[in-house]
Amino acid sequence: MSKQTTIGSDFSVSGTGLHYNFPVNVKVKPAPAYTSYVFRRADLNDFEIPASPERVTHVSYATTLMKSGVMIATVEHLLSALMGCGVDNAIIEVDSVEAPILDGSSAPWVDLIEQVGIVELQAPRAYLRVLKRVEASEKDRVMSIEPADEFRITCLIDFNHPMIGEQRREIIIRPGDYSKEIAPARTFGFVEEIETLRQNGLARGGSLENAIALTRDGILNQEPLRFDDEFVRHKILDIIGDLALAGMPVLGHVRASRSGHGLHTMLLSTLLRDREAWEVVNGGENHQ
Ligand SMILES: [Zn+2]
Repeated sequence: MSKQTTIGSDFSVSGTGLHYNFPVNVKVKPAPAYTSYVFRRADLNDFEIPASPERVTHVSYATTLMKSGVMIATVEHLLSALMGCGVDNAIIEVDSVEAPILDGSSAPWVDLIEQVGIVELQAPRAYLRVLKRVEASEKDRVMSIEPADEFRITCLIDFNHPMIGEQRREIIIRPGDYSKEIAPARTFGFVEEIETLRQNGLARGGSLENAIALTRDGILNQEPLRFDDEFVRHKILDIIGDLALAGMPVLGHVRASRSGHGLHTMLLSTLLRDREAWEVVNGGENHQ
């Protein structure tokens, strides 16, 4: 598809936030070309917070955007669904501080997007094409992006847990593959860490309905894993959501090893700051 897109009509959903546990109503609306993704706080006179890397504030356990002291937390799964489904432009109205966690994956968002459909706009799709390799690292966490003709992610996670261990997966992000291979993967957390997180004001809305809860040697959830390697798939889901802050699809190959939201957004900022490392190209142009 070489034209920009938006959704066919509005859709709404209600839920609660994973970290702050406030009830929230969301309405996602079609938007004109070159909008990218813009959040609107319906409870604060429609105050707008564009989804862009300069607006990233907290990155521990979720990606939170802030503008002039107004925030919208845990945006990565919804942004991942929009980007993964090939929706370039959308207005996202929320009436609280955090996007709803729903089932902890982006599958419910994908279902809603598929129900209203995706429509083309009269503007060429712009891509952020990577021209040279850029890296970001933090202790043993490393992430890089290098030139490629598609959006490809190679991801490695390594957790000392019998159900995870080392998991590696590579995927080229295409709408159909995203909804089947990545969207259903749920977020996960360690039961041991829950108390500490809650003392820090996080994970207050976390439950077995919206996260895989890992005990020392198993999981608490009745629902079995949706994939043997659901954990690395969720990490890829998060990477797509965080890189969606670029505001346009990326042509590049991401390699991530033990990454988290902080590193994802650090890589994107590092890339965008280096004006020789990328260019914007229109869809349909020859990328060779
Ligand atoms: Zn996530």
